Amino acid sequence: MEESFKLCLTHHSTIPIPFSSSFYSPNSNSSAFTSILESTAQNQRYLLPSVPKPEFIFTPPHESHVRASVTCAKELGIEAFMVLDLRKLREVKVEIADNSAWIQAGATIGEVYYRIAEKSSVHAFPAGLCTSLGVGGAYGTLMRKYGLGADNVMDAKIVDVNGRILDRAAMGEDLFWAIRGGGGGSFGIILWWKIKLVPVPPIVTVFTVTKTLEQGATKLLHRWQHVAPNIDENLFLRVLIQIANSTVNSRQKTVTTSYNAVFLGDSQTLLNLMKRSFPELGLTERECLETSWIKSVLYVAGLPIDTPTQILLQGKPTTPKVYFKAKSDFVRQVIPKKALNKLWEVFLQEDEPVMIWNSYGGMMSRISESSTPFPHRKGTLYMIQYVNVWVDGEKSMAKHMDWIRKFYELMGPYVSKFPREAYVNYKDLDLGMNSSNGTSYLRAYGWGYKYFKGNFNRLVKVKSKVDPHNFFRHEQSIPPIIAS
Ligand SMILES: Cc1cc2nc3c(=O)[nH]c(=O)nc-3n(C[C@H](O)[C@H](O)[C@H](O)COP(=O)(O)OP(=O)(O)OC[C@H]3O[C@@H](n4cnc5c(N)ncnc54)[C@H](O)[C@@H]3O)c2cc1C
Repeated sequence: MEESFKLCLTHHSTIPIPFSSSFYSPNSNSSAFTSILESTAQNQRYLLPSVPKPEFIFTPPHESHVRASVTCAKELGIEAFMVLDLRKLREVKVEIADNSAWIQAGATIGEVYYRIAEKSSVHAFPAGLCTSLGVGGAYGTLMRKYGLGADNVMDAKIVDVNGRILDRAAMGEDLFWAIRGGGGGSFGIILWWKIKLVPVPPIVTVFTVTKTLEQGATKLLHRWQHVAPNIDENLFLRVLIQIANSTVNSRQKTVTTSYNAVFLGDSQTLLNLMKRSFPELGLTERECLETSWIKSVLYVAGLPIDTPTQILLQGKPTTPKVYFKAKSDFVRQVIPKKALNKLWEVFLQEDEPVMIWNSYGGMMSRISESSTPFPHRKGTLYMIQYVNVWVDGEKSMAKHMDWIRKFYELMGPYVSKFPREAYVNYKDLDLGMNSSNGTSYLRAYGWGYKYFKGNFNRLVKVKSKVDPHNFFRHEQSIPPIIAS
């Protein structure tokens, strides 16, 4: 199969393909295959021997090769799990005069931020916090002011199931709507995004303030739930919740809540705002650091603020690679203090649990639920990301998976219901999976309604129109109605 695929690619390409440096499989170049596979895996859990691996990885050097890959996979009826790794297609063309940029889909979000900042310190793009990820979807520190990355996409180029390259005008508004948040890998292969740049001030202020249970963390977090979704939309104020050794009793653990923020403005304006809106946090000038927006990207990624911004060009995770499991929830009602105390008891039972509470409101509430497939808008107070990490692979995996599932169950009464909403980009296979021999609407509705609410049906309609035979599919891809 590998050889016939290569032959077909050669036949369909006008630009020669250097296969030795762009085609990897366990049979032909096993160590290069392993190293390329491992280089992009964010979660070591997916590298365990028990997890299925792609039969080959192709890193097309030119976009015409992406097109040829679709044509050949269809022509040869290839049913294999293959990865098209777009790492070589990472051009970023920034047009400050036009407040826009064209980005090839293989660029990381860190590269995009860097290339924008190279041309202007007062332009940015409202996408993800983790700079080694791709551009698709994503929320970040500008979400309360400008919405999501997907809300700021102006055009795109996609290779469709027939191997055609279509821009927005050619693909039509339904498909253009679906690819802005409808989950990757269902509708075609994105080659380019045209994004809208947004203004940021020359000075932004960052801070992190940490409170433990002994320092009144529960009361403060309870207050944050009331304040954060309604506070000035220039402020992104999330809470990272972890555990640490107690400073009061060294034999005990405590819960730490770190208020981690980026404010689009100077520190004096921020201090005045906090005094008015959230005095309980007790923010002082000492904790505030004025910097540029591009440096705030490093700060939020957990890097020292004086790190050269060139690090964003490396496309590597800023956090160590670990085994982890993640889940998500959306909260629409304040969680009472009593319930928080109950949650801490179970939270403290895990080795390295993390919860990230990300406040919504601002622009997120003004964009309608159906404007893009991402439906978690008005009425959402904040999103919770749950993660637990471990380092010894399969050895303790069952214990950690059990813990996160138990904690998620415990959270049930306090989060959104009917559906219990979830973030599509924190893909949670516990919510259900397509079966390997086909997809079904009813089955996919199980997770699709949680990810997309009422937009799920429109996504299914688009899928049925543009890929009726379900060529683009994975564990949680959108099903077409007619496929069995
Ligand atoms: C460490 C870490 C930090 C994170 N931080 C954030 C954050 O700050 N904000 C946030 O919103 N999310 C965050 N996420 C979640 C993140 O949005 C998802 O992991 C997302 O899938 C990353 O997108 P990607 O572009 O890297 O695509 P991948 O993870 O490579 O792919 C996701 C899906 O899209 C498909 N796909 C990829 N490229 C294309 C393409 N060109 N055309 C069509 N389909 C494609 C893939 O087949 C796959 O199904 C984080 C995840 C991790 C692991």
